Amino acid sequence: MADVKELRCVIGGCRYDVDEVSYTCPEHGEVATLDILYDYPALRAQLDRDAISASHTANCWRYKPLMPIACESKAPPLAVGWTPLYDTPRIAKNLGIRRVWVKDEGANPTGSLKDRASSLVLARALEKGFKTVSTASTGNAAAALAGLGASLPEVEIVIFVPASAPPAKIAQLLVYGAEVLLVEGSYDEAFDLCMETCAAQGWYSRNTGVNPFTTEGKKTVALEIAEQLNWKAPDVVAVSVGDGSIISGVHKGFSDLRQLGWIDRMPRLLGVQAEGSAVLAKACAGGVAAQDIVRQDASTIADSIASELPRDRAKALRAIRRSGGRFITVADAAIQAAIPEFAQLSGVFAEPAAAAAFAGLKRAVKTGIIHQDESVCIISTGNGLKDVARARDSVTGGIRVAPTRAAVESALQSRRLA
Ligand SMILES: *Cc1c(COP(=O)(O)O)cnc(C)c1O
Ligand SMILES: [Zn+2]
Repeated sequence: MADVKELRCVIGGCRYDVDEVSYTCPEHGEVATLDILYDYPALRAQLDRDAISASHTANCWRYKPLMPIACESKAPPLAVGWTPLYDTPRIAKNLGIRRVWVKDEGANPTGSLKDRASSLVLARALEKGFKTVSTASTGNAAAALAGLGASLPEVEIVIFVPASAPPAKIAQLLVYGAEVLLVEGSYDEAFDLCMETCAAQGWYSRNTGVNPFTTEGKKTVALEIAEQLNWKAPDVVAVSVGDGSIISGVHKGFSDLRQLGWIDRMPRLLGVQAEGSAVLAKACAGGVAAQDIVRQDASTIADSIASELPRDRAKALRAIRRSGGRFITVADAAIQAAIPEFAQLSGVFAEPAAAAAFAGLKRAVKTGIIHQDESVCIISTGNGLKDVARARDSVTGGIRVAPTRAAVESALQSRRLA
């Protein structure tokens, strides 16, 4: 394992030992999430990227030497990560840019990138001997924790999810056997309830951003993108943003690789928010510091990126700033239209929040934020089967026929004429 040097507060730079604090900085409060930092010169001397490239571990644990758990520690057995990176020339052509890749996170065991965070958090919970792990979630983080938790006999999972979450996501939780509290309120209310209950019951909280291990798990997507491109970063990485934890993890992954000298530059990050849930995009445009961000109403069809008060706001703003990146917003209509368009150009079926990254990239190219000679990796964060109702609304067609050859012929005929 990588010896953790310290936890460092993103607001005040306060330093803690990895076992000293579990969640946010006690000095600076809830906004002050923590970075898990390593002794990079020591890692640089010990590790070699070619040894990792030679690894036969076809999941995120191929990067265990860059993760904050002991080598001998147990991890959930489900195979998270090492998802495909597809070269998608038709998207590149369609958008008029040099090269586009799609990282298909919908291929993870429970269908979203959230598996990466849940896997590491559960490994940490096992190390620390927690019996119960809990999270609040718009759906995917909960499904990830419930699914990976079900692969371990040692832990119970308790989920706080808005009762309004898409049915497929709630079904996943129940099928995996988690204790599910359907909160009659927003994600943000579920989040606060979960934090309070964890404190009262002595449970371990996987809550996004607040638990520093979540960002550290999510960083593995960046490690994979770099490795799959033969230790090169694309010019731009496009990813959708709600709480800001994924984009922070992506930034941390590339940043660790820079510190190791394994890649020679940081990609610019394109953070895509829904117009109706754009707290971070607005703060960035208005020069508002993370500490001064206030809760705003959130409403979008892309439930996974609805966030009234982004929990990883400090790290997300920093990720955009330090990478020379940008936020961009997209309307719900553009997100909906992006579902079939993205699927038909790549073969990847994305849930609304994941298709939003494609919609945002499209808009970024149109507005000149991305140039035609650049290469872009779109992270497709979640599987389209997560929200079949929205997917169905995004398309028309299907020809109803009587079960006869004649009916089929006449249907095909009228379609040809149309
Ligand atoms: C969670 C999630 C996001 C957004 O990630 P944040 O860390 O909340 O910014 C985007 N897409 C999908 C599918 C997600 O599950
Ligand atoms: Zn602090």
